[in-house]
Amino acid sequence: MVAKFGNKAIFAIVWTTTPWTLPGNEAVAFKEDADYVFLVDSSKEKSIYVAGAENVEEISEQTGINFEIIPGLILKGRDFVGCKYSPPLKRSGLRSFLAADHVTSDKGTGFVHTAPAHGHDDFLVALKHSLPLECYVNEEGEFVPECPVQELLAKKVLGGEADDVVLNLLGDDVLKVGKLTHSYPYDWRSKTPIIIRASQQWFFDTQKVRSQALEVLDEIQVRPRNQEQGMKAQLKSRPYWCISRQRCWGVPIPALYSKTTGEAFVSRDITESIKSAIDTFGLDAWWQLEASKFAPSSLLKKSPDVALGRDILDIWFDSGVSWACHSKEQTEKRADVYLEGVDQFGGWFQSSLLTSVAMRNVAPYKKLLVHGFVVDETGRKMSKSLGNVVDSKSILKGRKGEAAYGIDVLRWWAVNYGCDESRIRIGAGILAEVDKDLDKSRNVLKFLLGTLNDFHPDEITLTYEELKVVDKYLLHLVADFEQRCLRLYDEWMVDRVANLSSQFLQDAVSACVHWMKDRLYCENEDSASRVSAQFSIYQALFRFLQIIGPIVPHMAEEAWSFLPPSSNLSGRLFKSVLKPLPTQWYNEEVLKAIETAEEVRRLATNISGHIPLMQQDVNIFAGDDVGRKLSILQKEEASSFSDLCEVLQAAKCCLVINGKCEEQFGEVPGAAKGEGFIVHVKLAKTSRCPRCRKYCAEEVGLLCSRCSSVVSKIGGSVREKHSGY
Ligand SMILES: [Zn+2]
Repeated sequence: MVAKFGNKAIFAIVWTTTPWTLPGNEAVAFKEDADYVFLVDSSKEKSIYVAGAENVEEISEQTGINFEIIPGLILKGRDFVGCKYSPPLKRSGLRSFLAADHVTSDKGTGFVHTAPAHGHDDFLVALKHSLPLECYVNEEGEFVPECPVQELLAKKVLGGEADDVVLNLLGDDVLKVGKLTHSYPYDWRSKTPIIIRASQQWFFDTQKVRSQALEVLDEIQVRPRNQEQGMKAQLKSRPYWCISRQRCWGVPIPALYSKTTGEAFVSRDITESIKSAIDTFGLDAWWQLEASKFAPSSLLKKSPDVALGRDILDIWFDSGVSWACHSKEQTEKRADVYLEGVDQFGGWFQSSLLTSVAMRNVAPYKKLLVHGFVVDETGRKMSKSLGNVVDSKSILKGRKGEAAYGIDVLRWWAVNYGCDESRIRIGAGILAEVDKDLDKSRNVLKFLLGTLNDFHPDEITLTYEELKVVDKYLLHLVADFEQRCLRLYDEWMVDRVANLSSQFLQDAVSACVHWMKDRLYCENEDSASRVSAQFSIYQALFRFLQIIGPIVPHMAEEAWSFLPPSSNLSGRLFKSVLKPLPTQWYNEEVLKAIETAEEVRRLATNISGHIPLMQQDVNIFAGDDVGRKLSILQKEEASSFSDLCEVLQAAKCCLVINGKCEEQFGEVPGAAKGEGFIVHVKLAKTSRCPRCRKYCAEEVGLLCSRCSSVVSKIGGSVREKHSGY
């Protein structure tokens, strides 16, 4: 009732789906900028009503009452500021109309019943305007004696008992009672409706540790970096953290209460006393023994009638203090990394940070690493109804119509796709691709192991200087690969490690070994140049397996078991130690020489056209700079077996170094000009050696000079035709 209008009472029309909350009504909320009108019931003219102008039609429709608007009398919502009303159910005193943002014009009556103890929005309005927060419903869902409406005492909220009493008491004040289907919160476990009621809870005062937590967070490496700001924003906007829950299962909050006053007692002494009682009587004691067994004597003297609290801690608090459970040896109690899904910036990452900062002023972790959530190949969420769920078991063991990929393929997928912080795709096509990629690497490993069949690491007498340049180049690549991978591991960029590994093995190493093939296959078994190639391949394999082992342990361990035996090998891969790289393996001079030779090869291949370079003699006229670089690949002016010839894969290479190459050789027909060199190709006059297939035999059908010497050493005939090739 707002006021008297003449001698008629004015009623504000308000609707509710929970009449049982009316005893807790403490305000009526309105929308500040909405229009409100006054109405009369044309059939009765007994009372005057007020409601939102936009809601009149709906109110008439819902109540079946033919309301007429009193003309010329429109108020704005804000005009209700300062207005009072008599609360329903004949409760004493007056209540206020209050402006609230959650009031809308598109539904209802333009006014909203506000019971601070029974709704989130209501609670916030109450906090803003310091309204009473009394709750007259206990934990059993029954009205308590303190309820100002005595008829409700011990009446149950669920089942409609309390609603009936309220509606009865309201009598004629009710315009309409009807059935309405709407959504309502249910407990997901017990499938029963939830009663919203204000209760006493324990809170963590986030504001108190916020600035320190933000400061500490500055020193934490967050990957991906773009998430860091989001985490800070969440931390800034969180006013408090409710850490108590009313459930049976969980860690009890170590609080005692006075049975008479309800006062809560919490202190270090009390916690210590509870701790020692649990130590003595066991975990279940909390639920079995009396409170006096847990209370320190000082408290019992002051308040003999103590009771145990029945609240448990929020599980985020439990997991949030997991840092405190690190082994005793780890005095620092800081994890290297916390790894979880992207949703944990507001969950575990934050609860851990808050508890750790509150208790000891440091972060519980040094790095944060997050991953996204698994979706299907097209990016859709997985669900049983869509039938797109990929079960990891079927990846490992296969199922009808699907191949079994095994753990290494699953792990290879996880590092290649799992580092994405938003969506991690998986599906049959992706798995087949991942499998193919891993299989390629596996084939290269098998091939490399094959080249080491007769290699004896312990018998190596070659020094680094004595290695062929191509082999030094492979060691340079190994050093570069290892160094980059270790850095990436350190940054938790394992997807990049996987990527780099595939490239390294399938491209870089394969290219090098392609150059070495002639030495591996055709040189004398124990020739220095062949052993040099084996040595670098062995080192590449050894180090590669150590780097890749953490990602694909089975493949790596298997390959490791086939490495030639040596005193250096301590059995299993995972017991081996990654030794520091020999510094000489980084060799810029070798790198530049090979890069230059590759540049020459590209140009030579171009001008060679459809004739393969292996049938051509390649003449290089180099300026001083290029000449200096290339000369470490070929000492003599012409050779069919130099490192340069290996990289170019030519029949013969001729390297002429002259500072003024362009003037001197610029006019050679069929030549091409590169930066600082001129390259010229000419069909080799020599023939294809039937043994090594290089075009360096003096006569058709004869072995080349190198092969002749090798064959005669092993007792074969130099004229023998190797038609089997
Ligand atoms: Zn040959």
